[in-house]
Amino acid sequence: MIIINENLTKEGYKCSFSNVNKEVKEFREKYPQTKLFNLGIGDVSLPIIPPVLKAMTKAVKDLGSMDTFKGYGYYYGYDFLKTAIIDHDYKNLNISFDEVYVSNGAKSDTSNILNLFSNKASVLLMNPMYPVYFNSIVINGNPVDFLDLKEEKGFIPEIPNKKYDIIFICNPNNPLGITLNKEELEKWVNYALKNKSIIIYDNVYEPFLPKNEIHSIYEIPNANKVAIEFRSYSKKISFTGVRCSYYILPNTLILDKKYKKCWNERILNTFNGADYIAQRGAEASYTEKAEKLINKNINYYLENAHFLKKELIKMDFKVFGGESSPYLWVKTKNNYKSWDYFIFLLNNLNIIMIPGIIFGENGDNYMRISALGNRKDVEGAIKRLKEYYK
Ligand code: PLP
Repeated sequence: MIIINENLTKEGYKCSFSNVNKEVKEFREKYPQTKLFNLGIGDVSLPIIPPVLKAMTKAVKDLGSMDTFKGYGYYYGYDFLKTAIIDHDYKNLNISFDEVYVSNGAKSDTSNILNLFSNKASVLLMNPMYPVYFNSIVINGNPVDFLDLKEEKGFIPEIPNKKYDIIFICNPNNPLGITLNKEELEKWVNYALKNKSIIIYDNVYEPFLPKNEIHSIYEIPNANKVAIEFRSYSKKISFTGVRCSYYILPNTLILDKKYKKCWNERILNTFNGADYIAQRGAEASYTEKAEKLINKNINYYLENAHFLKKELIKMDFKVFGGESSPYLWVKTKNNYKSWDYFIFLLNNLNIIMIPGIIFGENGDNYMRISALGNRKDVEGAIKRLKEYYK
């Protein structure tokens, strides 16, 4: 019998999203009439905005005519989208065309990028963190350490004394909902420059940041020597079901000189490019009209987050995040373990929140709340909680 990749059989975290889904599914089967208030999903609830839909509809028509048909070929993304990305997302940041790689989702991008490095490269992850990073590292087989994020420090990571080759930073953070400012990020860039490390900078929640915050790690001098930045259209234009993302792999990283050539070949050999229709939709998100509608949607989610935060604080919950992010990180009451609290909320108040243990051991006294759901669910959940905690 062929031996399968034994890394796939290694145990990740004790609880995973699939356990949550299983529990919710069983509840729904048992009580089909009961309304559940979903504060758990990391999925968006608002539909795709009209200018993006219009561009996608036109793209579908392009595929139906011999003159405009598109097939294989644009492995790194179409020029029209890369131009829009450079002109809008990286204006004045000196990002060049061949540094932009359009793809089909930051989840797979932040996982696939590990193929660029030796599996002997040491990795530093925050605890708690987005669990995809950990699971990808287990599959890849890299040695990994965790940096404990502490409530008393506001969950801000402290620079380690030890050298690590690869550091994953998610900013704004999922699950914590907090944001590192420019000064904090500068410390990490300096650490990476000093230790010749590479920062995997997961910036998928950038659309939730106010204007005055840092929107790209490349705003920090010399970050283009040490950081690979990832962004996604999933939350920005409701593309969770469409799939389009991109990342910046600078030409200037402190790595073996061959890295760009090797990576480009890796793409050619394993990826046939992102969907044409999705890329036309993403391009259409950069018009003035689309930007206004996107801001409106982002504000809807942020208003959810602000409302949740205000009401939870009134009920004496300890709440983190939820300012410039669609996530809130909430301490359970009475020292409840997160899985037990999840079960309690589901069965007694019919509210879904995500148990913090899914994001790492340090999350076990916390719940992650998502503000990406619809307003009715958010208000309904708060009403239930208020009734119970009055
Ligand atoms: N990175 C983080 C931190 C996320 O929370 C998510 C989705 O929830 C992703 C990446 C995945 O994004 P995409 O939909 O582009 O795969």
